[in-house]
Amino acid sequence: MTSEPDGLDVPPEVLELDPEELRRLGHWVVDRTIEHLRTLRDQPAISVEGLETLQAQLGGPLPRTPAALDDGLRLLADVALHNQQHGDHPRYFARVPGPSSPVAILGDWLAVGLQSVASSWGGGSGPATLEIVALEWLREALGLRPGSEGVLASGGSMANVTCLIAARHRVGTGIVYLSDQTHSSIQRGLLAMGYTAADLRVLPTDDITLRLDPATLAAAIATDLEDGHRPSIVIATAGTTNTGAVDDLPAIAALCTEHRLWLHVDGAYGGPAGLLGPSGGVAHLALADSFVMDPHKWLFQPYDIACAWVAEPGLLEATYAVNPEYLKDVRGGVVELSNRSLELTRRSRAAKLWLTLRTYGIDAITDAVRRGVGLAEYAQSRIEADPRLTIATPAQIGIVTFTAPGASPEQHWAASRALTADGYAAVTCTALHGRTVLRLCTINPQTTTDDIDGTIERLAELLTT
Ligand SMILES: *Cc1c(COP(=O)(O)O)cnc(C)c1O
Repeated sequence: MTSEPDGLDVPPEVLELDPEELRRLGHWVVDRTIEHLRTLRDQPAISVEGLETLQAQLGGPLPRTPAALDDGLRLLADVALHNQQHGDHPRYFARVPGPSSPVAILGDWLAVGLQSVASSWGGGSGPATLEIVALEWLREALGLRPGSEGVLASGGSMANVTCLIAARHRVGTGIVYLSDQTHSSIQRGLLAMGYTAADLRVLPTDDITLRLDPATLAAAIATDLEDGHRPSIVIATAGTTNTGAVDDLPAIAALCTEHRLWLHVDGAYGGPAGLLGPSGGVAHLALADSFVMDPHKWLFQPYDIACAWVAEPGLLEATYAVNPEYLKDVRGGVVELSNRSLELTRRSRAAKLWLTLRTYGIDAITDAVRRGVGLAEYAQSRIEADPRLTIATPAQIGIVTFTAPGASPEQHWAASRALTADGYAAVTCTALHGRTVLRLCTINPQTTTDDIDGTIERLAELLTT
């Protein structure tokens, strides 16, 4: 007598959802998203709730039996996904906004629904092609070196590490130069790669421009050479997160050529300003040996997506390729994206980006970026016209910082917290060499001049009463 293997008494449709029910709730999800986009301006730009309150609604014992899907979806939308920063809100000026576009949302939905995978050619030739095409379109639009090859990552943090591992593969270990305005994630990435503090030169920037000074860099390289160290990689930033400062790429690249150093450019924030042409503030990107940009910041994509490019063709594969036995059957295609970074199983992040580029066209996207730049310049003009406020750093590719002379650092923080708690806008302070300033990042094309006026007026009032 043979007994049935355990488990076969479970019906195949154990996790199915009736197609008509899926259709009904799918429409609810679409309607709810449209409602979000339509009423965003009247909602708070950021909502934070305590863990206890949230857990009371979202937690509880491990669910053992089914619960109503309608209720679950409503809890997701009204509680979980409501209580977050709304980076797509037209008055979200804190940190870096994430003004995702409706077209990109549609692309991402489809990629999730059709279980996209962009790992091997044999297992995902279509998604792989989307990724190669989208990266090449952007490479051309940004003026990166022809032949540059790329891969998508979750964010700037991972994209920078992806490039820096390839850089080290090419130039070997040695001293890495960055500035005190380099994004904090890069130091973390370098330390995770095995660099130690003794390998890193965090060069001071001046108080006015907050840019990496080529003379300071040249002196640091000279000192290291004298001391018998081996300079290897320079990290420049095209648009710092603090102030939008763009390092002097031609001067830094000249030093890199002279000393045969790798030039990595972090454009996670400011990269899209490269679409604006030579006068747009971010240019000469062909000088970069590797380059990073975050479409989930300023190319109107839902989280998450970042681009990593390396100028030397084949270097990503030379760095990352593995050929384990169990992947043999899917090899032999054109591009194995799993051989271009540390990620093997990866969804098609390109689907949303490709659809966005194809649908709007690069000119409309460039216009949307130009509007963000213009909004920060408008904010600067309003701050300059207000006797209660003074500019700290001028508008640079979408970021302006300012203070209220006479108000303490704590008053600046209190004003940004009060405005944010009020829900009208989300604003934060930052510190520039220890000096507390208010900061607006204005890259959402839906932001109006009224939004800017209202935000500045409220901040000025909070700071002077
Ligand atoms: C945001 C940012 C990063 C990190 O990118 P994530 O997408 O948050 O991982 C790196 N560098 C710069 C300049 C940034 O603005």
